[in-house]
Amino acid sequence: MKRQHKSLLLLTLTAVLLSCASPRALTTDGENPASAQLSQQNVNATLYQNASAEVAWLYEQGYAFARIKLDANLALPDSLPPAVIVDVDETVLDNSPYELQNILEGRNYTPETWKAWTARAEAKPLPGALDFLNYAVSRGCSVYYITNRDADEQEVTITNLAKHGFPMADKEHVLTMQGTSDKTERRAGVSRKHRVVLLVGDQLTDYDQALKDRSADQGLPSMYRMSGQLSQYFILLPNSTYGYWRDGITGRGSDAEKRDRVRSFIEQRVR
Ligand SMILES: [Mg+2]
Repeated sequence: MKRQHKSLLLLTLTAVLLSCASPRALTTDGENPASAQLSQQNVNATLYQNASAEVAWLYEQGYAFARIKLDANLALPDSLPPAVIVDVDETVLDNSPYELQNILEGRNYTPETWKAWTARAEAKPLPGALDFLNYAVSRGCSVYYITNRDADEQEVTITNLAKHGFPMADKEHVLTMQGTSDKTERRAGVSRKHRVVLLVGDQLTDYDQALKDRSADQGLPSMYRMSGQLSQYFILLPNSTYGYWRDGITGRGSDAEKRDRVRSFIEQRVR
């Protein structure tokens, strides 16, 4: 065997051995490299969300602040019975294990994989959420969970919430999506019979749909225009892994398009 052939054989053997020894490929996913690369862009954000004491404290801090706001707003006179509105995902329940699984498999959110996760009803409560909602109930508030989970996820969501003792986790109080992700109508439904004293969410749209629009300066001007109301009635919790803030950057389309838009966005920011 010629020397050249020997080295070629050695190289091939090494490559085969290396590919067997390495864990399941992530960024080099031969099936769909764009999906795997987009998924990899979420690694640090997901680790921060899932495993940092910093995020745990941000939740604790947010809910501690929520108590102060709740007490202040309850002190204002009103004839209607008080209610608190909370979002579910990344507000009271932690879905970061689903995001981690996506990274391991080199994939991104799809309704199918998401529903397979929610069907397990295994999401854990976020720090401070349960204590705050029990406190709100002790102060005479009703609790409404307004979520953009689908109607066919209502039962598993109730099961998941009830498993951890969340108050008022039932069909009357867990309001899933009815054809639109816009929560305005569902909030208005609660407001017809209650004085909504506080809203809590991980998206600014958990307070007002107008804050979905990120076309002007990532939505900062609209957020500041509404800062008075936000300060009095809304508690925002951290979500580094997904949301309208990220959709505003990735846009819609294929995973390759989203991956490329993140890169273009970064390029614009450093110019
Ligand atoms: Mg949410």
